[in-house]
Amino acid sequence: MINAMTVDVEEYFQVSAFEKLIPRRDWDTIESRVEANVERILQLFDEKNIKATFFTLGWIAKRHPAMIERIVSNGHEIASHGWEHVRVTKQNSKVFREDITRTRALLEDLSGQIVKGYRAASYSIGRNNLWALDELAEAGYTYSSSIVPVHHQYYGMADAPRFAFPASEGRILEIPITTISVANWNINCSGGGWFRLFPYDFISWAIRQINEQDLQPSVFYIHPWEIDPDQPRPDGLNLKTRFRHYVNLDKTYARLERLGDDFHWGRMDEVFLAES
Ligand SMILES: [Zn+2]
Repeated sequence: MINAMTVDVEEYFQVSAFEKLIPRRDWDTIESRVEANVERILQLFDEKNIKATFFTLGWIAKRHPAMIERIVSNGHEIASHGWEHVRVTKQNSKVFREDITRTRALLEDLSGQIVKGYRAASYSIGRNNLWALDELAEAGYTYSSSIVPVHHQYYGMADAPRFAFPASEGRILEIPITTISVANWNINCSGGGWFRLFPYDFISWAIRQINEQDLQPSVFYIHPWEIDPDQPRPDGLNLKTRFRHYVNLDKTYARLERLGDDFHWGRMDEVFLAES
């Protein structure tokens, strides 16, 4: 079975947990590290024969057009992560439509691909803003990967389906972030801080379980800053945020290599839209 590999392309200082500490107006004054980190990821994917989907911020694409070309020329899919990492829960439908339309147009321009996919900042589509899926369909997107079927402080829709389901009257496919169901409790097992926190063997067991018991592909996600233990560490972060952001950064690259050895990985559109 081919699982879906995804990268959320953003700078370390653009994560939602940093937004009070580092305001958007300061972003242009901070040293960029995203391009060098994406380059390392591209090399790893090349070595392990991985094809992937890169959910990219419009803000990043505008400043790094050559990086978009590099991603595309290596055979990967470009998809949208919104313009500047504003959670959907903080947007109304009009603002959201402008954001996803603007981002898609720029990414299509730079990549020469049709942009089919969208991932919300911090997986911020859930029970209270499912209208966002209608807006995505209207704006021409084919799929979204924005819902996490878990209970969490900032995101999640615990009763959402665990696997891909049609939404907005069948006009769009929602492909939730992969969870493993243990004792009726969904646990996020497919990337980000969870990938860094849990032992590798738990993650690989979970993916195998999903492939062999649920007969479903899993969706894995990683951020470029997660393979960058040398990133600057701003003062003033609370303990919980520090832990979530920095835990095991120095081990992520090697773990990603293992994932490449242990599973087959493809792009979202190839794994989930193959029949169309
Ligand atoms: Zn993000």
